[in-house]
Amino acid sequence: MKKSLEILQQVYGYESFRGNQSKVIDHVVAGGDALVLMSTGEGKSLCYQIPSMARAGVGVVVCPLIALMQNQVLALKRRGVRAEYLHSGMTKAEEIAVEKLLARGKLDLIYVSPERLATDGFTLILDQLYEHDGISLFAIDEAHCISHWGHSFRPNYRRLSNLAKQYPDVPRIAVTATADDKTRQDIVEQLQLEQAKTFVSSFDRPNLAHAVVVRGDQNQQFLEFLREHEGQAGIVYCQLQQTVEEVARWLVSENIKAAPYHAGLADDVRTKNQQRFLNKRGIVMVATEAFGMGIDKSNVRFVALLGMPRSLEDYYQQVGRAGRDGEPAHAWMCFDSKDVIRYRRHINSSDDSRQQKKVKNAKLNAALAWVESTTCRRAGLLRYFGEAAEDCGTCDNCVEPPNLVKKRASQWQPPIENLRDMIDAQACDARREELCSWRVEMALSNRVPVFKILPETALNQIMDRKKLTMNDLENMPGIGQKKASLYGGDILRILNH
Ligand SMILES: [Zn+2]
Repeated sequence: MKKSLEILQQVYGYESFRGNQSKVIDHVVAGGDALVLMSTGEGKSLCYQIPSMARAGVGVVVCPLIALMQNQVLALKRRGVRAEYLHSGMTKAEEIAVEKLLARGKLDLIYVSPERLATDGFTLILDQLYEHDGISLFAIDEAHCISHWGHSFRPNYRRLSNLAKQYPDVPRIAVTATADDKTRQDIVEQLQLEQAKTFVSSFDRPNLAHAVVVRGDQNQQFLEFLREHEGQAGIVYCQLQQTVEEVARWLVSENIKAAPYHAGLADDVRTKNQQRFLNKRGIVMVATEAFGMGIDKSNVRFVALLGMPRSLEDYYQQVGRAGRDGEPAHAWMCFDSKDVIRYRRHINSSDDSRQQKKVKNAKLNAALAWVESTTCRRAGLLRYFGEAAEDCGTCDNCVEPPNLVKKRASQWQPPIENLRDMIDAQACDARREELCSWRVEMALSNRVPVFKILPETALNQIMDRKKLTMNDLENMPGIGQKKASLYGGDILRILNH
């Protein structure tokens, strides 16, 4: 499977696959059908884009939204991939130009709407391509649309059920972020994916660093935390509407761009604040726990909880709104044992049945055990969700293993000592040293390991070259276009001065 990894590194500039990506990709490249359930921001589209490129022929992607097609095709073209789309908003001339490229086998990916796929003209082109093994796969994005249970059922999706018969040995992959059992069954039936392998993605969010502090001077602790996130978008969860108001006002008085959000606000104020959060940069939204449902803002850099949630499910859902773009993000909680006492009273004095009370207390106990644990937080969270995991190296307990006698209310810090050791260990010339220092600086400010900035192999290759251009960097394994555009300027400046 070297080829897929090479594509990932060269085209996308990522060092390695995340989560289920490589399993799905291996399976589809080998010709298998797949049903993939992955949450937003986990790199769903790579699961069909890379097999489209790794296999011979063009990948046909059925996508219900024009805007989504346009975004993806634009992003692929920027990476040098031969991708096009066909949708109803194009001129006839534009359509013909794309169809010609498609028919001549000049495309890696073609994005089409389900309506387009059902047309005779398009079917004719597909038939011809198929005769010469010219179709690498069919991908059905937003596959929940195929289900009557989905929110936006599209009758033309039903036509997709013919694909299995018409093009029997072309792999089909259905991808969706949301699918309950009923929707899942519908997808399998409609697309005849009975033989397909189902991939349900892990709960793991490797880019999320967790930290818990014991409440002391909360304002001071919180300000220290916020100092690491100056100018970044974040969400602060409070338990009471009144606290939301107070915290938002206090943040504004500290010159932080903050806005409140809770059910007690007038509709227009709430909408205005939400729009501000979505559209302006660096807004801190202070909210009760209901906020965030259906909000898709990928570059939320932190979620802070001013109080313990009632369960790890709640915790996971709330902090999961940070870092959906896959870039490093921070989950921070200020814990006070009074919260637990209050919840416990609340549960026990409620009208719930004995069984319900038992479940709620058990969930609360699990959350408390996690908060008080001295081992890796991410691994603990994953174990709770039934997954095995290794220590993350980024949570507070990993970075600074707590003294069992006295747990310091400290902030998360990257493992500076390890990074410093790495530089010292390298007997390198001045340029290399400068590049290494820069790499450490970038790693520290981005809260990622150094290899994520510039892997050792790429560093060695750079040092081996006499001359280097931006183009060289873009084509270098471990760098790729994305990293070249982010860091290429810095690297060339260091090498050339
Ligand atoms: Zn950890």
